[in-house]
Amino acid sequence: MDTMHSASLVKIEQLSRSTRLFRFEVGEELVFTPGQFYRLTFRDGDGDFERSYSFGQLNLDSSQRYFDLVISEVSGGRATALLFNAEPGLLVRLRGPFGRLVLPEGEHRQLFLVATSVGLAPFLPILSELETHRHDAFESVHLLLGVRDESEFIFKDELLQLRSRADWFDLTVCYSREKQVHGPWTSLGYVTSALTTFDLEPNEDFFLVCGNPHMIDDVYRELRALKFGPRRVIREKYVFAVQEKTAVKGELSSKDQALLQRKMAQYTQQIITED
Ligand SMILES: Cc1cc2nc3c(=O)[nH]c(=O)nc-3n(C[C@H](O)[C@H](O)[C@H](O)COP(=O)(O)OP(=O)(O)OC[C@H]3O[C@@H](n4cnc5c(N)ncnc54)[C@H](O)[C@@H]3O)c2cc1C
Repeated sequence: MDTMHSASLVKIEQLSRSTRLFRFEVGEELVFTPGQFYRLTFRDGDGDFERSYSFGQLNLDSSQRYFDLVISEVSGGRATALLFNAEPGLLVRLRGPFGRLVLPEGEHRQLFLVATSVGLAPFLPILSELETHRHDAFESVHLLLGVRDESEFIFKDELLQLRSRADWFDLTVCYSREKQVHGPWTSLGYVTSALTTFDLEPNEDFFLVCGNPHMIDDVYRELRALKFGPRRVIREKYVFAVQEKTAVKGELSSKDQALLQRKMAQYTQQIITED
């Protein structure tokens, strides 16, 4: 059920150079299944606008009256401008929950959680849910996290602690721009290369994949080639709001079209440069 709620910003924490955690307090308990997202309505000088964000609280407790967002700065972004200059007390409205990126029913062999950057956010409550209730449903759980370098490895302490206390949990952090590994949990290259090091079974393993749309397409292509069906690879692309709008409404204003074309040209150029 999709109901409107209000929330107030109570805490901001810098997680890396470009990423912050925003904690919001709510008056009532918000329903969500770990892995889902809400649509937040913000207000700035030009009026109201909406953006989607995964709930990224690491500790699940039904009595909690807060939710955490893990947000990466986007240059020129409207929500970025508002949030990265916000003070505690900022009010937002939100509706949800939405999304199919949740733990599967039943038992499976290996569960893979694959993310780039802030695509890690929905996996934080999922890991909490696994630890407290659900890890027995899988022989093992593997988190594959793609980041550019060590400085972007957010929630490092928490993930390494989980790795040392949970024998069902395995972590691989893939650095695309580091020259050397930083520990037994690290690997050089993209998450797609790390995937090929696992013994995968298309009828028994299950994938949840979240973050950069290009990474998701690459991972999905690899898995399809290994005969994984779409029901075993649940994907959530962090598309830009203007693309999300197109997906929902199927149309764009000419202003949005011009903005999208301009930004996609810049973004494609940036990817080519980075590669
Ligand atoms: C289901 C879902 C869940 C999401 N969850 C999260 C989350 O947990 N954390 C999070 O940080 N984000 C998340 N996002 C992305 C988020 O909704 C916003 O798109 C993002 O924060 C940028 O918003 P903005 O208003 O700052 O930028 P916008 O004003 O929307 O964008 C400014 C311009 O930059 C371009 N642009 C936008 N994003 C990028 C980018 N990443 N790289 C290059 N160019 C870009 C756009 O084309 C646009 O023209 C999610 C998206 C979806 C669809």
